[in-house]
Amino acid sequence: MVAEMPGRMAAPADVARRERCAPGAGTAMTRRKLAGIAVTAALAAAGLTDAGAAQALAASDEQAYQGTPGPREALQLLMEGNRRWSRGRARHPHQSVQWRWHVAGHQDPFATVISCIDSRVPPEIVFDRGIGDMFTIRTGAQALDESVVLGSIEFGPFNYSSARLMLVLGHQKCGAIAAAIEVIESGCRAPGHIQAVVDALRPAYYVAKPQPGDLADNMTRAQTRLTVHRLKQAPLLRKLMTTNGLTIVGGHYYLRSGLVEIIA
Ligand SMILES: [Zn+2]
Repeated sequence: MVAEMPGRMAAPADVARRERCAPGAGTAMTRRKLAGIAVTAALAAAGLTDAGAAQALAASDEQAYQGTPGPREALQLLMEGNRRWSRGRARHPHQSVQWRWHVAGHQDPFATVISCIDSRVPPEIVFDRGIGDMFTIRTGAQALDESVVLGSIEFGPFNYSSARLMLVLGHQKCGAIAAAIEVIESGCRAPGHIQAVVDALRPAYYVAKPQPGDLADNMTRAQTRLTVHRLKQAPLLRKLMTTNGLTIVGGHYYLRSGLVEIIA
């Protein structure tokens, strides 16, 4: 919807714009594009059916990485888990009842993952990890703001020195990216607070627009790289990069293969 200034005569261009941006049209458009997006539910219940096997696997995990993994080992853990998930050989570590009791007293997550809200890309599942392994922050197309989202991202590595890897994860066929492209190119506004997501994605649109190839794919990758860049510029995270070896990388997830590619 376009807010009109009091007492201002509507020019023909404004009338056309208002029709284009009518509440029904805008809502339907955005609803259609956002159809594939859902806020995911709890992730930790996936592997509790075989508690004995899960406990054994959790124990072997701990033996493999005594102490806290550094950023390189943390990335290795995530990528190994992703390969298991991709091949249909997920082990569901750290999802046993015993492990749940273990982490009830304390947590030492080794990573922070910032990803999209898309229901098909839950980090703990696509990296074949469990509870207590990672902080996860999920927004539409892994968009940032300068308040609650960024503060939540900073919270983990600032308070838990174990979390020395930060991974920004975009994905193929992102509904939030597609919706943002449609809203930006139409000149309309998305309904409700969805417009805030569109505005946050605007820089990635302008990076991707002149590039050859698929606009949505280019914009998703640009958004991941821009998010990595912005996180590296955040004063608190910059300090943690120096003092605690915090490492920030970006990845791209493929929906059919289930594989994650490191792109930044
Ligand atoms: Zn998405």
